[in-house]
Amino acid sequence: MTSHPRNIVITGAGSGIGAAAARAFAASGDRVHLVDLSQERLDTVAADLDQVTTHRIDVSDAHEVRAAIESIDVEFGSIDVLVSNAGIFDGLAGIQETTYELWDRIISVNLTGAFNVIKPVSEVMVRQKFGRIITISSIAATRTLPDGLSYDASKAGLEGMTRRLAVDLGAYGITANTVAPGVINTSIQETSHELLGGMIPDTTGGDNIAANANFLETAVPARRSGQPSEIAATIHFLASTGAAYINGEVIHVDGGWIAS
Ligand code: ADP
Repeated sequence: MTSHPRNIVITGAGSGIGAAAARAFAASGDRVHLVDLSQERLDTVAADLDQVTTHRIDVSDAHEVRAAIESIDVEFGSIDVLVSNAGIFDGLAGIQETTYELWDRIISVNLTGAFNVIKPVSEVMVRQKFGRIITISSIAATRTLPDGLSYDASKAGLEGMTRRLAVDLGAYGITANTVAPGVINTSIQETSHELLGGMIPDTTGGDNIAANANFLETAVPARRSGQPSEIAATIHFLASTGAAYINGEVIHVDGGWIAS
């Protein structure tokens, strides 16, 4: 079982949802291991937290990722929770605009990057016969919005992989679930927001932001965008004892958008 403090690995922890997850776990006394491309962002997030390590890594580099996971395992003796969240966005690139290079770039971070982290972490979790794997998808996996072709495909792939993890690892006391956020106030979604604003019929005299606000008011049942902390709360719950029997699920945290 879990020793205390738990060790939580979070990728893409430098901003948005990953940073909010880091704060949520740190607040409950867990030790957080933050992975991101940007050391500057890592330092900013880590500055407010107590038990924290940072790892400036590109998740698309399988060797770098394995070395970091092994070093965390050797130093701290367990990896209890993985939040696989690092991601990039190719807004509005449909099939005509998607080059081979763009496809490779998005898939190598969002999908292969998640696999690169899950592979060594799952070995640790199988050994310890405990673990929680939480992948961060998007409503774009289910419902295409102004996301790009490669982004939508990467997130759908992530959900498929997570279901398979649930099956392969369930007997080892490990669960694997996906959290699929809707419109959340993060840098990815700010870009997406602007795109949304530009895509929909503008009834406000040319102001995309205002048009986007209208869009949210009519399309999202909650009539607002979500906060990173609201995604972090769901992630934190999935890592809790109370969630031990939830396995292979996709939980949409989207203010009711998919339901509409
Ligand atoms: P969101 O919180 O909505 O997922 P953000 O853009 O705010 O979106 O956060 C994504 C994080 O993932 C950023 O901090 C970014 O630096 C990080 N990231 C992007 N690509 C990589 C990568 N290849 N390896 C590690 N971290 C990455």
